[in-house]
Amino acid sequence: MIEMEKIFKTYPNGVVAINGIDVKINQGEFVYVVGPSGAGKSTFIKMMYREEKPSSGKIVINGVNLGKLKESKVPYLRRSIGVVFQDFKLLPRLTVYENVAFAMEVIGENSKTIKKRVMEVLDLVQLKHKARSFPDELSGGEQQRISLARSIVNNPGVVIADEPTGNLDPDTSWEIMNVFEEINNRGTTVVMATHNREIVNTMKKRVIAVEDGKIVRDEARGEYGIYD
Ligand code: ADP
Ligand code: ADP
Repeated sequence: MIEMEKIFKTYPNGVVAINGIDVKINQGEFVYVVGPSGAGKSTFIKMMYREEKPSSGKIVINGVNLGKLKESKVPYLRRSIGVVFQDFKLLPRLTVYENVAFAMEVIGENSKTIKKRVMEVLDLVQLKHKARSFPDELSGGEQQRISLARSIVNNPGVVIADEPTGNLDPDTSWEIMNVFEEINNRGTTVVMATHNREIVNTMKKRVIAVEDGKIVRDEARGEYGIYD
């Protein structure tokens, strides 16, 4: 479960990005975060994986109060939350296999466990046959599938995605959404900031709309709304 209470965030330059947010997201939910550019969507989700810290307020992820989390425990938080970006962020000099394995190596898993699990998640995204390829030998959709595989390799309870289809064509975006849905069907919470109106309106999931750093709408089977 993700809980945010009375969250405010002002960046060092004085910009108020989040202006009082209270929200609860239960385990297994699929949530879209929508709103105009600059509304605070990225800041909102970055605080969930501690890429940004709130200026005030309380964030609890799966029972862990992020405000009380010691720096030495941050890697454990990162293990329990997978993150997917618009620009994939794969390491260019590592193969597909190595990119996914790396996420397990940093938390000290042994090589036998790593090998088994990496091939399992590559199978889930249907790219086992690309294990030896390098990222620049893959299409955009394939690179995003690899980054999805990497995000779930440590069996996180939550996957957070910031515009994961922003660089992809409509057909490829749908393929990626099918993988997200599969991951969610296995019990993983998915929180996704997106500008993809067609996907949000078709999937009929919970929609949280953010404007001027506040939640202005929160609907169980919501629509995208009027934004570009
Ligand atoms: P969105 O994802 O909805 O486009 P963001 O969370 O990226 O919104 O941005 C919210 C506001 O905070 C914007 O005014 C943006 O310019 C500002 N902002 C975002 N990141 C930073 C930062 N690192 N430093 C200063 N201001 C920032
Ligand atoms: P899509 O089907 O998503 O439009 P592409 O047309 O870019 O993808 O690629 C089709 C196939 O060719 C994919 O399997 C991809 O891995 C492979 N491919 C694309 N670019 C390269 C490259 N530079 N080197 C090797 N294989 C590539």
